[in-house]
Amino acid sequence: MVKDISWDELNKFNDSLKNKYPKLLSKIGNDSLAPIRRGLQCGNGWLKILRPLFEELSKYDIVLEQVKEKFGGLRIYWSSNLELSDEDEKTIRDLIHKAEEECWKICETCGAEGKLVNEKGWLFVSCEKCKKKGWKERENYIKKLQKEGLLLTPYELMFGKSE
Ligand SMILES: [Zn+2]
Repeated sequence: MVKDISWDELNKFNDSLKNKYPKLLSKIGNDSLAPIRRGLQCGNGWLKILRPLFEELSKYDIVLEQVKEKFGGLRIYWSSNLELSDEDEKTIRDLIHKAEEECWKICETCGAEGKLVNEKGWLFVSCEKCKKKGWKERENYIKKLQKEGLLLTPYELMFGKSE
């Protein structure tokens, strides 16, 4: 995920995330096939959806297998070693479904209001501003916003501003 922050920051973010939700996220970022540690495989814009979702899901004895962007949308795969009650399973499914639905309306890059766009076959959810920019330009745009305090860093989005 997150092409707009340094590896140090990304590692700090991943470590903090896993410390906060040790069980829920125990499998996230453990992909030994990847050359580098990967955590959440989606953009920063969706963290504001993921934060309350993780908070809710961590109340259950489940493990997230993958959190990623696929065909423009948020996809979350999970599992549990325990027999969940029908009620709990339904609650978990509903929570995840709701988050996946919400992400169709949130720019994956910056978190502003967005919609699904198709750029030469590449699908992604974007606001009008981010849509007009190429990858590199989008990165710089995000950095600029963060510098000006107009956009929180992934770390701040997930854990608040103070350290
Ligand atoms: Zn945007």
